[in-house]
Amino acid sequence: SREWHLVARPHGWPKAEDFALREVPVSEPGEGRVLVRNLYFSVDPYMRGRMNDVKSYTPPFQLDRPMDGGAIGEVIASNAEGFAVGDHVLHGLGWREYADVPAKHATKVDGSVAPLSAYLGVLGMPGLTAYAGLFDVASFKEGDAVFVSGAAGAVGSQVGQMARIKGASRVIGSAGSDEKVKLLVEEYGFDAAFNYKSGPVAQQLKEAAPDGIDVYFDNVGGEHLEAALSSFNVHGRATICGMIAQYNNTEAAPGPRNLALVIGKRLRLQGMLVNDHNDLAPQFVKDVAGWIASGELKYNETVVEGIEHGYDAFVGLLRGENTGKMIVSLTR
Ligand code: NDP
Repeated sequence: SREWHLVARPHGWPKAEDFALREVPVSEPGEGRVLVRNLYFSVDPYMRGRMNDVKSYTPPFQLDRPMDGGAIGEVIASNAEGFAVGDHVLHGLGWREYADVPAKHATKVDGSVAPLSAYLGVLGMPGLTAYAGLFDVASFKEGDAVFVSGAAGAVGSQVGQMARIKGASRVIGSAGSDEKVKLLVEEYGFDAAFNYKSGPVAQQLKEAAPDGIDVYFDNVGGEHLEAALSSFNVHGRATICGMIAQYNNTEAAPGPRNLALVIGKRLRLQGMLVNDHNDLAPQFVKDVAGWIASGELKYNETVVEGIEHGYDAFVGLLRGENTGKMIVSLTR
């Protein structure tokens, strides 16, 4: 069985030499465990933070050990009650072909409800992040004008569509290519979208939201956050979900130069971690499954085939090569 190890801590952008695909033996599962053949694993932006040796909300990856993260697989041997050979499970031991998983950390998923990979994206952690971040953290209400950055990604694409479905007065998104911008407007039903690489974000946002914004869902930070502060109406609310523009920085990024606007506009900037919102999961799955079935909510996945391309998928994600959820498939 092959698995990806972190072998050096990246400085700035990750390099191929920082990772190694290694061969390891597969053993029978011990008491209370299941052996899973992984079918898909997730690469996510937060994993970049786990490659640094710093104390954070998730522990750093250890050097010369397998990396981990969300994965979907099929049980091929079970030594745990309630799990049978052939069951499909969601679990936390990705980046490898075979996973020896404690049953209490495995959740059965139903491939007849949705394609299995959806449990890593639209019906999984990124989808819940969008749902909780918009409806709970940002206190979204009908009639709000919503701006989301990283809008063609796993989280952002869901934020914009959920806002539209729930009656936003205007939904604006930004993304890094003209194709993505087209997708936002033509497929996802955004009212306006722009390519942040085509000109200053503040100016493009002003044009896209002439009456200002009430909610900003931040996946990017930096220039985007500054632009949102400028465009906010009074009592605006920002969900600070991610700051991907700075994950590979080697020096601290400057703060928003216009932060003082929070005073006069009485803004609320609220950070979030999806793990705090598991109580919303049942309602989230019910709502999203319904919206997918009715065709109101669409999603994309970028699927990279083969474990040997795990590193490529991860840096591709940081570079914006994905549309929707970036997934590595081991099904071939
Ligand atoms: P995405 O699917 O959105 O993929 C990342 C995207 O980021 C890329 O496709 C790229 O799109 C964009 N990007 C990369 N560099 C930049 C840049 N310099 N400026 C602007 N955009 C950039 O990933 P996710 O949906 O999984 O995650 C989105 C954000 O949400 C991340 O910041 C992540 O850390 C955060 N997150 C936070 C969680 C929490 O609990 N707080 C949980 C899950 C995610 P483009 O082509 O448009 O540049």
